[in-house]
Amino acid sequence: MVKTRFAPSPTGVLHIGSVRTALFCWLYARSKSGCFVLRIEDTDRERSTQKNVDAILDGLDWLGLHPDEGPFYQSDRLERYLEVIDQWLGDGHAYHCYCSKEELAALRAKQMENGEKTRYDGRCRSGTAPKEGVDPVVRFKNPISGEVIVEDQVRGRVAFRNEELDDLIIARSNGMPTYNFTVIVDDSDMDITHVIRGDDHLNNTPRQMNMLSALGATTPIYAHLPMILGQDGAKLSKRHGAVDVREYRQQGYLPEALLNYLVRLGWSHGDQEIFSINQMIELFDIDGINQSASAFNPEKSLWLNQQHIIAAPAEDLAKKLVTLFEKDDLNAENGPALVTVVEAFRERANTLSEMVHKCRYCYEDFDVIEPKAQKKHLRPVVLEPMRDVLEELSNLDKWTAESIDQAVKSIAARHNIGLGKLGQPMRVAVTGSSVSPPIDVTLYLVGRERTCKRIEQAIRLIAKRANAG
Ligand code: GLU
Repeated sequence: MVKTRFAPSPTGVLHIGSVRTALFCWLYARSKSGCFVLRIEDTDRERSTQKNVDAILDGLDWLGLHPDEGPFYQSDRLERYLEVIDQWLGDGHAYHCYCSKEELAALRAKQMENGEKTRYDGRCRSGTAPKEGVDPVVRFKNPISGEVIVEDQVRGRVAFRNEELDDLIIARSNGMPTYNFTVIVDDSDMDITHVIRGDDHLNNTPRQMNMLSALGATTPIYAHLPMILGQDGAKLSKRHGAVDVREYRQQGYLPEALLNYLVRLGWSHGDQEIFSINQMIELFDIDGINQSASAFNPEKSLWLNQQHIIAAPAEDLAKKLVTLFEKDDLNAENGPALVTVVEAFRERANTLSEMVHKCRYCYEDFDVIEPKAQKKHLRPVVLEPMRDVLEELSNLDKWTAESIDQAVKSIAARHNIGLGKLGQPMRVAVTGSSVSPPIDVTLYLVGRERTCKRIEQAIRLIAKRANAG
């Protein structure tokens, strides 16, 4: 059975790059009816925080990347790591190293002076007498010669010479096991078959493979994912946009849209751009992962978000809008049903928060009309037609988009003006700007009372302008 794992270190929040890794692990497990494990790598006690753990769990939950097993916490597994270290100290796969900081610094300096690669030279490898008052570190006895071949599923065959790999510290002097070591104990104990992770870990892989063989474990299949860069080609960071994936939720991204965007960063299936979650599961395979880095493109992510907004069931979006309304202090009870807003605005908004922003006038009066729109559209020529509009709309039998449409058409015909010539001033009067859904739909959503009040206000403004000459 395929078993993948996502193994974040809670030294930071869940960012876009990690989500893409999590997504690929999750998709691969789903597509092979396998198991997706979540493992929190929190052995770095100083830099790991509960807040980051919560951010990671919350982010994954929002995205729907639920683990089949876990979350496991490495901090719960210390005993097991210490057991392996003891075993290795006993059978010669590891040894105590008593070198002091000063000694290692001197070694380094000398190697640099000689133009050599700086590395631990294995001086404690064949046994050193304990030094008084020094708590030793434990080092893994890496093979001295030969090669480690990583048959990477993305990068192809990558060879590392053992002589390039020095003896890694697997337990610090305070006894705490270190990252590369805990990873292999867990990958082995958890029967991980596929390690899919960022290619910043590729250099760790030969060390991990050596340790896995010391453990007598089978080596998983590795797939190292190319980096995600900013559009300027630099490593993705805060200045390229949101760092914490939860910011995308706040901005009104749909989780499936963000996942769709991320799946295409480094993976392709022909030139298809839009994928539902089920399609991703059906079509995803490691073969489709690209070798080169890809750039995060905020415009494209917005476009994709809109495609998913257009495709999503209106009821689902309406539910999501409730939270965003609350966040914006907007009372959803104070206007049309959210489902109707979704229908009217989904083609006009890239995110749900943009939708909230755009439909605000349906729920709340605005303070001022955009000056430019006012100047251009609320002109004395429309004074009489607008008076008719007020009159007719106040007396409409039924407040529906159709009846509004009919009324507007007949008034325009009566005054012998084009529909747009009447629709635009109405729109400006009722929404405060010159852009909105079709005028009949807009008025219907705003409701009769607000519409008439706003048209009345506009008539007063136009009259004032007419009087001023
Ligand atoms: N904990 C590591 C990280 O957050 C990932 C380890 C791995 O995937 O092997 O970068």
